[in-house]
Amino acid sequence: MHEYRYYIKKITKNEEDTIILELGDVRGIPVFDFVPGQYAMICYKDANGNLTQRHTFSIASSPTENGSIRLGIRLGGAFTTGLAQLSVGTEIFVEGPYGKFTFKKEKHTDLVFLAGGVGITPFISALRYATAQRLSNHLTLLYSNRTLRSALFLEELLELEKENKNIRTLFNITDEKLPYETAGVLNRRLDPEVIQNFIGHVYGKTFFICGPPNFIRAMTENLQSIGVQASQIEMEAFSMIPDDGWYAKLRNTIYAVGFAALVFLVPFYFIQQAAKSATVVDSNVPTADLNSSAAAPVGEISPVTVSAPSAAQVPATVALPVRKTRTS
Ligand SMILES: Cc1cc2nc3c(=O)[nH]c(=O)nc-3n(C[C@H](O)[C@H](O)[C@H](O)COP(=O)(O)OP(=O)(O)OC[C@H]3O[C@@H](n4cnc5c(N)ncnc54)[C@H](O)[C@@H]3O)c2cc1C
Repeated sequence: MHEYRYYIKKITKNEEDTIILELGDVRGIPVFDFVPGQYAMICYKDANGNLTQRHTFSIASSPTENGSIRLGIRLGGAFTTGLAQLSVGTEIFVEGPYGKFTFKKEKHTDLVFLAGGVGITPFISALRYATAQRLSNHLTLLYSNRTLRSALFLEELLELEKENKNIRTLFNITDEKLPYETAGVLNRRLDPEVIQNFIGHVYGKTFFICGPPNFIRAMTENLQSIGVQASQIEMEAFSMIPDDGWYAKLRNTIYAVGFAALVFLVPFYFIQQAAKSATVVDSNVPTADLNSSAAAPVGEISPVTVSAPSAAQVPATVALPVRKTRTS
């Protein structure tokens, strides 16, 4: 892993909430080597000249286009909207390459990509690479988006399919009613039936899933329901917090322990408080005003009203019995 100072060569804003960012070296030096499917971490200087946090983006270009890297980015929060406002020539700090969610041409001879939204980025890198290298690997893409306009790289994917006879694509739109059955575009959810019909048998195939965590979950279930083994599936979730694995287990355990503590400790606290006031306030004890000169006789127990130090510590005032002694 290395750190590079690249600059924005081109920034393309799409109609909806995505941009394509092209980065390269200012001196024209080729960009770093990477494998299709790897990602980079990038940051830039904000309006005050401070470096932002580093954010993660899969490299969408092919390693064969070595003059630049391209990133396909969905705009969401402060980082990405800030990025979209930068102009050509702005310096971008790039770290990478990272990641093992990679296309291996010797191993993945029959590969099915399932992309949810911007999860297309690692796959288009592989599709571009396989086409540029004239590889014979069979690459099938099922690409689902909310709307047609939000789908990144649609036209280029159609071009790649024309150019490379080993590529097959199925586009799917979930949240928009298409005016007619647009050729090759499906207007329903990617369910097991759609997947099975499009890919045929599952034997000997590898399945790569990429997108938001809920897409990953749904596609994994779909694949398993048509007989795909877990060992045939690889996935990358576009989330800053891993949805599965050790982190989720640890987080869930912490939540469970915290919840159990709340359930047991809160009633316990109130029972304890109730018990305290039951033992402390004794109706047989004669009450006398300590401030008055007619205090209880020496040696007798008389109650005195004590204010709670804070509402959080003791919820109400309690009457405590005190033994009075003569001081003079
Ligand atoms: C392996 C991988 C590859 C990805 N590839 C792509 C891609 O190709 N295209 C794409 O659009 N998205 C991709 N993502 C998701 C992308 O990183 C986030 O959606 C994006 O950075 C969030 O930016 P924002 O402006 O919405 O976040 P903000 O609103 O600025 O921040 C979101 C929150 O995440 C916190 N955060 C901390 N560290 C990071 C970090 N390193 N990255 C993001 N948030 C961080 C921020 O502090 C903040 O609390 C990928 C994610 C992963 C894990």
